[in-house]
Amino acid sequence: LRAKAEERLNVSTALRHALELNELTVHYQPVIDLSTGAMVSAEALVRWNRPDGAPIGPADFIPIAEETGLIIPIGAWVLEQACRELSRWQRSDPAMSVAVNLSVLQVLAPDILQQIEGVLERTRIRPESLCRELTESVFMHDIDYFGKMLTGLKNLGVQLSLDDFGTAYSSLSYLSRFPFDAVKIDQGFVRGLGVNPHDTALVAAILSMADALGLSVTAEGIEDDVQLALLKQMHCQRGQGFYLDRAMSADALSQLLARSQPWRAHPVGLPPAPSRAPPGL
Ligand code: C2E
Ligand code: MG
Ligand code: MG
Repeated sequence: LRAKAEERLNVSTALRHALELNELTVHYQPVIDLSTGAMVSAEALVRWNRPDGAPIGPADFIPIAEETGLIIPIGAWVLEQACRELSRWQRSDPAMSVAVNLSVLQVLAPDILQQIEGVLERTRIRPESLCRELTESVFMHDIDYFGKMLTGLKNLGVQLSLDDFGTAYSSLSYLSRFPFDAVKIDQGFVRGLGVNPHDTALVAAILSMADALGLSVTAEGIEDDVQLALLKQMHCQRGQGFYLDRAMSADALSQLLARSQPWRAHPVGLPPAPSRAPPGL
């Protein structure tokens, strides 16, 4: 326990300096329209290049950033970077959009609306081409406060998406009560597609519920051709995952956009995941 506590302290001390020492970067994972193969968006994912080379992913340092409040300056920086890159990408593809994760702690900061408005003004991107992704943890907090903040975000014209849908505290009534535009099906369900009949049924149920509520759907964590084929068959609009493309630098994404070729079965340089025999639905 002591070793763990020390490690957390070391990480939080180093993270405190990571921003000013330029150790953070943002990578972008393409989001593909599954019916056309076109890249329609990209999710901004923060990366930390520690000087000692010790590998650490966001799943490890974001919770520490949230505990220490560092997520507020880090999140603001990621948003600024993502919107700047988007304004560059929109020169070659005006319909391109970007998705940026938003922690509950950031929503609790009283100036969050002004901060987002400021970034939109500085980078001159259309508000609807920015999507903020929130997890279901928002439902565990002061519902009235979050309702007001999310409505404030919607009034700015920003899109709102419910991330990792189905993994946490999913009260379906909140989906109609909060002004969400989209849901992202968690990769846990996508992984079970065609393998676990319950996961397949849940994905179908999420798609039909989203359709009834007028929400668009992105499936996360698509890792093979079988998952992709089943999602297309179920009319899921958008997909994201290692089988389509991994997160990449902003420049690499620009190059991909400039080629403007629809995604085909095998993305350049990435071996497809081993294929499984297509099971019945
Ligand atoms: P998320 O928002 O659900 O992001 C998707 C995660 O799934 C990313 O992990 C992405 O690399 C990973 N992923 C994408 N496709 C696949 C796949 O096919 N298979 C598998 N196994 N994984 C896939 P990453 O970059 O490690 O980020 C983890 C989490 O950290 C994110 O989950 C998000 O909750 C958080 N995060 C990352 N960047 C930020 C940020 O700038 N701000 C905030 N607040 N959270 C962030
Ligand atoms: Mg996300
Ligand atoms: Mg997610």
